[in-house]
Amino acid sequence: MPLEGSSIGDAAEHYFEQSEQIPSLITLAARHDAEAGCVAGGLLLQHLPEGEVGRDRLHVRHDHPEWEHARTIAATLKPEELTDPATSLETLAWRLFHEDEVRVESGATVSRGCRCSTEYFAGVLRQFPEAERADMADEAGDIVVDCAFCSRIFPIPLAEIAAPD
Ligand SMILES: [Zn+2]
Repeated sequence: MPLEGSSIGDAAEHYFEQSEQIPSLITLAARHDAEAGCVAGGLLLQHLPEGEVGRDRLHVRHDHPEWEHARTIAATLKPEELTDPATSLETLAWRLFHEDEVRVESGATVSRGCRCSTEYFAGVLRQFPEAERADMADEAGDIVVDCAFCSRIFPIPLAEIAAPD
């Protein structure tokens, strides 16, 4: 998909419009602060699809009056507000939408890590015929797998692949 628009925010909005077909407003701001360094903030506002009554299909209306209302209000957000460390996200949401309804969800904890393991890759390699596994192995008799997500490298001995525990 081509990047279109005059800013990263515009390009992301275009993506959501064309690919996800979800009306979106994206506002990004960054400034340099002598004490705090680079401070960046952003707002992603989306009009989520509704389920059609009695049907499975999700329905998006691009001209929904509530979306126009929310979009117009959110567009008044100033870059200084987005990059003010003293202003919490809850405060911003309240400042913008206090005349409507604001609900803050508690959010999910994000943790760093990858679920890859020697056992996992051995299980995948076990699906290949023995002759192909032998071709994939290096001189030491290991098949070396690198995880595409976390870049860790796993040398897995052929014997370990052939004999599951
Ligand atoms: Zn990994």
